[in-house]
Amino acid sequence: SATTDMAGQEPQIASAARTDGPPAILLDKVNKWYGSMHVLRDISLNVAQSERVVVCGPSGSGKSTMIRCINRLEQHQEGRIVVDGMELSDDLRSLDAIRREVGMVFQSFNLFPHLTVLDNCTLAPIWVRRMPKKEAEALAMDYLERVKIPEQARKYPGQLSGGQQQRVAIARALCMKPKIMLFDEPTSALDPEMIKEVLDTMVMLADTGMTMICVTHEMGFARQVADRVVFMDRGEIVEAGVPDQIFNDPKTERLKTFLSQIL
Ligand code: ADP
Ligand code: MG
Repeated sequence: SATTDMAGQEPQIASAARTDGPPAILLDKVNKWYGSMHVLRDISLNVAQSERVVVCGPSGSGKSTMIRCINRLEQHQEGRIVVDGMELSDDLRSLDAIRREVGMVFQSFNLFPHLTVLDNCTLAPIWVRRMPKKEAEALAMDYLERVKIPEQARKYPGQLSGGQQQRVAIARALCMKPKIMLFDEPTSALDPEMIKEVLDTMVMLADTGMTMICVTHEMGFARQVADRVVFMDRGEIVEAGVPDQIFNDPKTERLKTFLSQIL
């Protein structure tokens, strides 16, 4: 399987994380509630530029909520979130700026079914970045080549496999030239034979020095790419460390239990 293939390899990509400059993402004691349910509890996390962070944890632990707060698809109620130097606030201009700089890829690919692959990729650059159509198409073709599906450009999402659709979703996000990419379980809706092609695309992206936060349970990927693995449970960051420490030397019973369930 994809997981064992990647787990069998030694990490190939040296850390590119630049810890000297300002953090790409800063979360400081972030709290969030849905009604009376406390879903993020004092979450503090610094992500350096070019750092790759993998987030794992049981279902319902707040992983999606945390990354959705980072591009303000959700709002936190307490604490601070600073993305590329911009404090997330109710200021609409800052919201716009955040959305341009932070690309997101979801479990369900969220492509527009009535638009071709190419049009899916050029929509935001044309309408949000005001890029001329020809330029946007050239850019989209460049990214479709990088994710290895340029021949699918004129097709509709429904004509593609799940793995191909997810690679389109990645190319589409990259067309906005984001500084940061967030992935929320990008392979968990895919058939096993398609997982590797999407993970390979993410490895390629990591290799370019992109700052990434990936929610995934693909531990082979985490071992190969992550500078840091963050384990969440019940709205808290319970442990964080380099992959070797998290996987081979878990400190808490909660992480030990989680690892015994997924490995
Ligand atoms: P994970 O991604 O780790 O599975 P989530 O961030 O999706 O966890 O969810 C954390 C908790 O918040 C869960 O208990 C979930 O049921 C709840 N939750 C998530 N989204 C909403 C929402 N829009 N409204 C109310 N509760 C929500
Ligand atoms: Mg989730």
